[in-house]
Amino acid sequence: MKIKYLGTAAAEGIPAIFCECDNCKKSRKAGGRNIRTRSQALIDNTLLIDFPADTYMHFLEYELPLAKIKNCLITHSHSDHLYPAELIMRKKGFSHINDEKPLVFYSDEAGYNDIKAVKEEKNISDDDILVNKIKLFKEFEVEDYKVTALRAAHDPKSSPVVYIIEKDGKTLFYSNDTSEYPDESMEYLKSLNKPFNLISFDCTEACRNATYVGHLTLDRCIALREKLFEAGAADEKTIFVLNHFSHNGTNVVYDEFVQIAKANKFEVSYDGMEIEF
Ligand SMILES: [Zn+2]
Ligand SMILES: [Zn+2]
Ligand SMILES: [Zn+2]
Repeated sequence: MKIKYLGTAAAEGIPAIFCECDNCKKSRKAGGRNIRTRSQALIDNTLLIDFPADTYMHFLEYELPLAKIKNCLITHSHSDHLYPAELIMRKKGFSHINDEKPLVFYSDEAGYNDIKAVKEEKNISDDDILVNKIKLFKEFEVEDYKVTALRAAHDPKSSPVVYIIEKDGKTLFYSNDTSEYPDESMEYLKSLNKPFNLISFDCTEACRNATYVGHLTLDRCIALREKLFEAGAADEKTIFVLNHFSHNGTNVVYDEFVQIAKANKFEVSYDGMEIEF
């Protein structure tokens, strides 16, 4: 399985739109991996995770094959993960797509409702866009992938989930936006009793001392990794990637943070990063 990180920032991007803070200034000046767009990932060039406003930029930057992509998992309804206003562009006439299959979204309640509302308002047919409401803790199939959504610890109004994605014996745990998982999700992970090959963590606040529910810091990622080891969800071969960074984090600028994370045996995502496992 291959994951390509297309966007690796929290809501505002890095540098953040409208911002003059030091992290934003430093990131802009350093360029390259220090620039982060809003959250999106692509599995094996075919299965999309999230649909932020920066999808268009990812389409330009990475030749994202959007006409060919038929399935998209939505983690939650926040705008850095789901930007439904763009969906009218998938309607016939706004785009010309050779094969007739619709783009199918999978989401829990809030994202499902937002996509449905845009479909109704803009009169987008099922031939162009479909949306399925997922059932949590219940495996479903998308293409050749087995997918399971677990409840995330994040703004409940956004119906947040994290995804287990499995194919050919390889398993990815795509885990943002969330802080330490709710008990029901932790119990589910324990019940699987099988280590994941790659775990992608939310590390929104980097080295900042933040304790709120919804996102994580490096210290809390270290503790959560330990819990996943104890739960049997990770072993010494599991690759851990830190993802979803905010300019409000401490030491969050990539060039600075990558050293700190490496010393703690974490990979750090950047826009365009690919990992095959
Ligand atoms: Zn986010
Ligand atoms: Zn800033
Ligand atoms: Zn969010």
